[in-house]
Amino acid sequence: MTAERDRNYRVEAIVLGRRDFGETDRIVTLFSRESGKISVIAKGARKPTARSGPATEYFARSRFMLARGRDLDVVTSAELLDRPTNLESSLARLAHASHMVELTGKLVQEGEVYPAVYDLLHLSLRHLGVAEDDLPLVRWFEVNVLTAVGYQLDFWSCAGCQRELGAEPNFLGLRTGGMLCPGCRTGDGQAMQISVNAQKYLRLLSREGIRSASSVRISPAVASEVERVMAAYTSSVLERDLTSLRVLREIREQTGSYSV
Ligand SMILES: [Zn+2]
Repeated sequence: MTAERDRNYRVEAIVLGRRDFGETDRIVTLFSRESGKISVIAKGARKPTARSGPATEYFARSRFMLARGRDLDVVTSAELLDRPTNLESSLARLAHASHMVELTGKLVQEGEVYPAVYDLLHLSLRHLGVAEDDLPLVRWFEVNVLTAVGYQLDFWSCAGCQRELGAEPNFLGLRTGGMLCPGCRTGDGQAMQISVNAQKYLRLLSREGIRSASSVRISPAVASEVERVMAAYTSSVLERDLTSLRVLREIREQTGSYSV
């Protein structure tokens, strides 16, 4: 009886991606609150009569009953809870939703759980369907999801000398992984200058909740500067992550151990 119970488990999850498999099946990448990122197989999901169809749509938040399989776990039942509304009405909005789920998928590692990231993604996707302007919401998500996976940026003090940053253009040290004052920037060959207004906005994004962060109006210049800064920081984090994963893999290959 225990074995039977262990074989089946239930998760609440957001669909990060999916691909067709075989004649009618679908492999779905889920980001679940309980088990983190998992790939599962939804058998017959592409049949017109499939009941699991809507639950495995992109960006859907659904409740899944899964059975442990030899390679992939199998969806035994799926129930759609909600999905952002009005996504298909705007290509830009659809692109923003894709960006958020893609970023989440890249930042989280299989086998680890991230309830805070899950809640953040759920909240952000829900707001995306109704927000007046998506861009502040997307930036807010980026700043906060990086914090939730352990890459918080301190926009108040210099990562080099630890002094409080002055009201002047300061720098994001992409190699250092933190903000740098003008004096410390020379120690980082990949320092990116950030204007005073963009720093103010980044501070606000990291301090405020989704509602007040989304309602702040900023100039197009600051918006595009912050977009560039966050894109550069995200790439540097992902690159570092991929490097450390490669190192981990090499260690495993050398030692034949998976306990690292
Ligand atoms: Zn400094």
